[in-house]
Amino acid sequence: MSPNIPPTPADAAQRRAARPTIIYPAGIMGGPDMAVLEAARQSMAKVDEIIVPPRDGRAFRVAHGQFFRIVSIEGPQVGDLNLWNADDLSERFFSGKTRALHATHVGAGDRLWSTMPALRPMATISHDTLGWYGFDADGAGIHDVIGTRCDPYTNLLLNGTSYDFCCHSNLSRALAAELRAQPRAVEHHVHDVLNVFMCTGYTKDTHQYFMKASPVRPGDFIEFFAEMNLLGALSACPGGDCSTTHSSDVAKCYPLKVEIFEPDRSLLGNWPWPAPSAYHRRHGAGG
Ligand SMILES: [Zn+2]
Repeated sequence: MSPNIPPTPADAAQRRAARPTIIYPAGIMGGPDMAVLEAARQSMAKVDEIIVPPRDGRAFRVAHGQFFRIVSIEGPQVGDLNLWNADDLSERFFSGKTRALHATHVGAGDRLWSTMPALRPMATISHDTLGWYGFDADGAGIHDVIGTRCDPYTNLLLNGTSYDFCCHSNLSRALAAELRAQPRAVEHHVHDVLNVFMCTGYTKDTHQYFMKASPVRPGDFIEFFAEMNLLGALSACPGGDCSTTHSSDVAKCYPLKVEIFEPDRSLLGNWPWPAPSAYHRRHGAGG
C-alpha cells in the first residue's frame, strides 16, 4: 500500500456503502444436467491411466463424452492443470472468465470455460471428494482459479535463482513431448491453470494471495466430463501440498494419477454439446 494515502472525502462512508451486485448470478445460464452425468458416471469403465511423477508434468488426451479424474496417490500433492481443445490449441482454458462466471474456487457442477471467441464449456466438474471443505475460517477454499502457476520467470525475479521444475516448465515439457517439439517452441500455449487440490485464498487485511496445506489425502479425486476432445497437461507442483514453499526442491512431493473413463454413451442421450459462441465477431465494425 502506498504511504501517500490521499485525504478521505467527507462522503467516504456513503460511497463505501453502495450495495454489491453479483456480476454473473449463478443459474442465469442454466447449468449442466447433473442427473444425466451422474447416471453416465455410474456406468463408466476405466480405459487409461497416466502417472505424473513429482516435480514433473505429463500430457493426456480425453475424447468428448469421456470422464477423467485427477487422483491423489501416496501423499498430499497439488496439481496444475491446463486444457486445450485437442483439435485447435488456440482454444484453451480461460481461468479468468471461469472465475468470473463461477467463483474463486470451483467444484461439482461448475464448468471450465474456454477462451474467446469460442467461450464455451470445455469440461464440467462431475464429482469432487473435497466438496465438503467449502470455505474455511481463513477464507480459503480448494481448486482455485485465482492463481496462475509457479514459473521460473517470477522465481528469477523474486529470488534471483533459476529453477527448472516449476509448473510452467513442467507443463511446457509435457506439451512439448506430446507435440514432439521443443519446450520453448510451445510454452506460449501454456496458460493460467486450475489449481487442483490447492488450498488458497486472499488475506482479509491486505487481500494478498495465500496458500495453506492442502487437505487432500490419497484416494481423493476431482472428476471432469469432457465436453470436447481435450488435450490436457498436469504438473505435480514442486510445492507438494503447497503448505509453505514452492519453486524449489525443499517441499515433499508426491505423484498424481490421471484416470480416463468411458461411459455408456447411450445414457448421455441428447447431451447439448457446447458449440462455439454465436457472436458475429464484427465488433461493431460492420461487414
Ligand atoms: Zn506449481
